[in-house]
Amino acid sequence: MVSQEQLDDIFAIRWPLPHFPEDDQTPRHVRGAAVDDAWKPRLAFIRQLGAATADHGPDHDPLLVALEDLVAIKKAADEQIRLLLAYGRAYVTPRPHTLETLGQAAGLTPSGVSRAFGAKEILAVGNLTGRRPAAVEIDDHHPDLFPDDDSRRRCTWGGSKNNPCTDEPKYAVTDKSGTNWACCDSHLPGYLRSRT
Ligand SMILES: [Zn+2]
Repeated sequence: MVSQEQLDDIFAIRWPLPHFPEDDQTPRHVRGAAVDDAWKPRLAFIRQLGAATADHGPDHDPLLVALEDLVAIKKAADEQIRLLLAYGRAYVTPRPHTLETLGQAAGLTPSGVSRAFGAKEILAVGNLTGRRPAAVEIDDHHPDLFPDDDSRRRCTWGGSKNNPCTDEPKYAVTDKSGTNWACCDSHLPGYLRSRT
């Protein structure tokens, strides 16, 4: 059973209600809005708790759900940090951010920044933004060149998440980060087409 006491304690830790001292001059409606804001995530958590109890049984208490919730938030933030680092290094032009600058902002060493992302993150950023790093090399398409399923089957050099290119891949484009993309006839950049 979910104990109300434990739930209240977790709320007090995670989403403390705003405190207004006696002589506080904050207008009433502003105070009310601040309290409402603190209650929104609390109510969302109660819904989440209901789902978790249904999945894991009544022993899965609010403390465990709160921990799992925070770990998921942390994981998602780490993922976004990796994507932003990949973006800063491979997509920002004409002067990409340096490893030092990115490292300072992200709390990593320069070599930690390089290790934080790879082809997976480069591909994900391209998919989310519709942008591509500069191309440096082109070869004939071969499924073995690609660890990801997408590039084995379709053009990943063109398109984006909401508007993917489903054309048959004919070429393998290697970008300046060393990441391989599959490319159809129509998305092959003109200057590369002229070289083949
Ligand atoms: Zn295409």
